[in-house]
Amino acid sequence: MNTDALIPEPHVMSTYSRVPIRLTYGRGCRVWDDQGREYLDALAGIAVNTLGHAHPRLVRALQDQVAQLIHVSNYYHHPWTEPLAAALCERSGLAKVFFCSSGLEANEAALKLARKFGHAKGIARPEVVVYERAFHGRSIATLSATGNPKVQAGFEPLVEGFIRVPINDLEALRRATDGNPNVVAVFFEAIQGEGGVHPLEPDYIAGVRALCDERDWLLMIDEVQCGMGRTGKWFAHQWAGIRPDVMPLAKGLGSGVPIGAVVAGPKAAELFQPGHHGTTFGGNPLATRAGLETIRIMEDEGLLANAATQGQHLLTQLWAELRNVPGVREVRGKGLMIGVELDRPCGELVLRCAKAGLLISVTSERVVRLLPPLILSRAEADEIVAKLVPQVRAFLDETSA
Ligand SMILES: *Cc1c(COP(=O)(O)O)cnc(C)c1O
Repeated sequence: MNTDALIPEPHVMSTYSRVPIRLTYGRGCRVWDDQGREYLDALAGIAVNTLGHAHPRLVRALQDQVAQLIHVSNYYHHPWTEPLAAALCERSGLAKVFFCSSGLEANEAALKLARKFGHAKGIARPEVVVYERAFHGRSIATLSATGNPKVQAGFEPLVEGFIRVPINDLEALRRATDGNPNVVAVFFEAIQGEGGVHPLEPDYIAGVRALCDERDWLLMIDEVQCGMGRTGKWFAHQWAGIRPDVMPLAKGLGSGVPIGAVVAGPKAAELFQPGHHGTTFGGNPLATRAGLETIRIMEDEGLLANAATQGQHLLTQLWAELRNVPGVREVRGKGLMIGVELDRPCGELVLRCAKAGLLISVTSERVVRLLPPLILSRAEADEIVAKLVPQVRAFLDETSA
């Protein structure tokens, strides 16, 4: 099989170094390429394909919607915005939603909410606490909030007004903000995704919640990757038993149809008024119907519980197989968001695994990341382990001195 041959796309900007396979078809947790080769999808379009590929109920709903109305302007009402917004508020305990089309857009809206919140309190130069290794997107503001110099290099000057701290260190957060009257918000991912699958401890999240209450800051939790059921609860911060004030969502929300959302609690829900923010595609009929149908299917099929069960099984099996392998540092994560950290850069595992019929990603150079669809079966979880472990072993053998 010749997956080494590059697939030329001379008219496409080279923003990604793509794996040289061309995917044309998908069903459930499997996809096929144009050569008829089959792959088990343990990436799900980076935590996007919640229901896997071509889920029959989602396909029917989308076909129905496409034939009725794909898009109208936000100047008008349509039947799907309010039901999806209500569904998100009900499951998060929050109050109001703004819809957009991607993760960075949701985070951009969150940052604008933080600034509006500050200005409403008379703070002219609001500052937001962000984190080392964080990832919030690729727009100028969200790349400035991101804690990865590689994402920022070449795009300076960065947006000002960010204070950076390490995760899981309440003292560091206090030290970085004590006596600073300009702080308006703390902004983190409940589990850092691109940064290498680093969970924030429930105690830490609860501690930040308390500090935000004490100092009248917004707690803003980026659930773009770890939210929408992936960890076994609707939103990963719910493991800490708290509510944020602002919660950006995207990736898994539409199960493949581009949609983002910012869900806000009472402290932030009324900050945007007509003219303050907007986006043309945001919350269109196709995207919101996809989101609503995704949520209904997840509940009818018990996919939160499935994510928790299969995730725990995957984590246990991977740890059992890899714990004594030299070069494997840690297996960590929650539900179906799992990272296997190695002691060396391992980007080439993406191609090796693809050749073995498994789609994965490597993030933060050394972390193999698994984000399979939430419909994953026990047999498919076992198949991920059976395909991944030999590749990790072989790679570590071949690259050891
Ligand atoms: C992917 C991601 C984003 C950016 O989402 P896009 O849709 O690619 O703009 C933001 N935050 C987190 C936590 C993400 O994982």
